Amino acid sequence: MNDRLTRLRTALEKKGVDAVLLNSVTAIRYFSDFTSDDAIVLVTKKRNVLITDFRYTIQAKEQSGDRFEIVEASGSKVFEIVKQALAEENCLRTGFEDDVVSYARYEKYRGLETELVPMAEELHGLRIIKTPDEIEYLQKAQSIADRSFTELLKVIHPGMTERRVAAELEYIAATLGSEGPSFDTIVGSGPNGAMCHAVPGNRKLQNGDLVVLDYGCLYNGYHSDMTRTFAVGEVDDFAIGIYNIVRTAQAKALDALKPGITGKELDAIARDYIKEQGYGDCFGHSLGHGFGLLIHESPRASVTGDTVFEEGMTITVEPGIYIEGRLGVRIEDCCVVTKDGKLDLCSSTKELQHIN
Ligand code: ZN
Ligand code: ZN
Repeated sequence: MNDRLTRLRTALEKKGVDAVLLNSVTAIRYFSDFTSDDAIVLVTKKRNVLITDFRYTIQAKEQSGDRFEIVEASGSKVFEIVKQALAEENCLRTGFEDDVVSYARYEKYRGLETELVPMAEELHGLRIIKTPDEIEYLQKAQSIADRSFTELLKVIHPGMTERRVAAELEYIAATLGSEGPSFDTIVGSGPNGAMCHAVPGNRKLQNGDLVVLDYGCLYNGYHSDMTRTFAVGEVDDFAIGIYNIVRTAQAKALDALKPGITGKELDAIARDYIKEQGYGDCFGHSLGHGFGLLIHESPRASVTGDTVFEEGMTITVEPGIYIEGRLGVRIEDCCVVTKDGKLDLCSSTKELQHIN
């Protein structure tokens, strides 16, 4: 944890700023261990300050008290304290999270009498290589998700609504130790599967459907992400053909995932194969994204993703084919890049599963 603050200070120096203000729950948690965003964290050259209100001071002392001065304040008092701290150390330039700060908060920051320097990119960059403890949490989150999928297939059947499928899944995951869904569960049955981010609705699963199920679990704040597409009863040969194309595209990209490859190159492996099979127009999203304290993080595997993958980065591999009015197929694994390849965190089978 102290190592994270050291890396943060190195980044501040490199950027030529004297201090940084953190206000997203993600950045606050990563650098201080405090798990609420009802706080502002100020890191200067000399001080680590966490300002929060009366409701959270006990929690803040327990989670961050060994490295941070915990200051109790609310309302405009918060910004007076920050302003004074910046003035005491003569902080002329102060970094902030330009991707999450609201306009209202930015107006308050402007009153701090310091030059505001956008630092979202650098802050995300500090989290891009996962530490061993972070990888362990991600593994734990995904192992809960894998077990949940196995259990889910035993309890769902034709006639259940998509919404019920999502509810059953989230209930099972919670009983197995998930802190909650890592994003809104996606269930797209039959033609609804063609909507990549289908919101579970009242459509009932019917024999002959393919069902796209995309979900994740949370462990210690870390997000897993997996998609499996399964069949209700028997499906036609066309559906099986599409399923096999997506499965092969994913396998090709997974095989190629190792340090040194770029996000763009990885994306192209799956995309080119799908194109060759005649469905290029039916794969309209990126191949994958990093994940961690957020469900979508750097790097990206996309047509423009120029990050060169390194050991410790996370990436999902999730090609799909979506045919309007008919069906959708997506298969997604979440992976960690290792020294000479990748660790696929997902163990759920990719043999097409059938529920009855
Ligand atoms: Zn997903
Ligand atoms: Zn994903």
